Amino acid sequence: MSTVVAVDGPSGSGKSSVSREVARRLGLAYLDTGAMYRAATWWCLEQEVPLTDGPAVAAAVRELPLAMGVDPAGPTVTVAGRDVGAAIRTTEISSRVSAVATNLDARAELGRRQRALIEAERTGGWSGGRGVVAEGRDITTVVAPDADVRVLLTADEAARLARRAREVHGTDDAAALAATRDQVVRRDADDSTVVEFQVAADGVVTVDSSQLDLEQTVAAVLDVVRRARTPQA
Ligand code: C5P
Repeated sequence: MSTVVAVDGPSGSGKSSVSREVARRLGLAYLDTGAMYRAATWWCLEQEVPLTDGPAVAAAVRELPLAMGVDPAGPTVTVAGRDVGAAIRTTEISSRVSAVATNLDARAELGRRQRALIEAERTGGWSGGRGVVAEGRDITTVVAPDADVRVLLTADEAARLARRAREVHGTDDAAALAATRDQVVRRDADDSTVVEFQVAADGVVTVDSSQLDLEQTVAAVLDVVRRARTPQA
């Protein structure tokens, strides 16, 4: 039986590390949809498309020569044959990605590609048809509302800020927290104008990771998957 697991959540909720590990343990493909928005942003900058020019951004995204590697042991992001895995994680991309994410035509295009990738893994693809864990902001609601398992991974703002600060700056002291605030709080506020990812939609299970470490959060999500797979009496 193939399983599609959709995971949404705000920045710093741990959704990438958790989703990737859940996919690895279940032998499923792993699709990082945030990486697709980041790759689209990188491509626009590379092509010198002004991010303020909505129609030009939408046109560039339609032409984006993007390939996503979905092996959870080593996911890859390739644009026009270039491995952009590191280039899309810079602070510059993090601070500009919302311009692409709030472009509705760009969202429609990336959503279409995400649905195709999920469908390919459901029926065959890298996972041999076992399925996929797809994570992002609108996977449970817009991209894959009919997923077998839908999880909203949340954490309180302090926990999310501290996690991102440790990831980016290696510490969560006051200076690192201040430097991280734009990435986490401002970006989520901008993104919230086009997608709801702070409150669980009907049928979506909330997992709050504020008090959990990575292993405990993975266990909590695996538990949601197990319960969804167990036939109801
Ligand atoms: O998860 P990550 O921080 O890599 O996502 C980067 C950005 O991509 C988010 O800030 C958001 O603007 C956008 N995004 C989105 N919809 C998704 C996944 C990501 O709008 N499904």
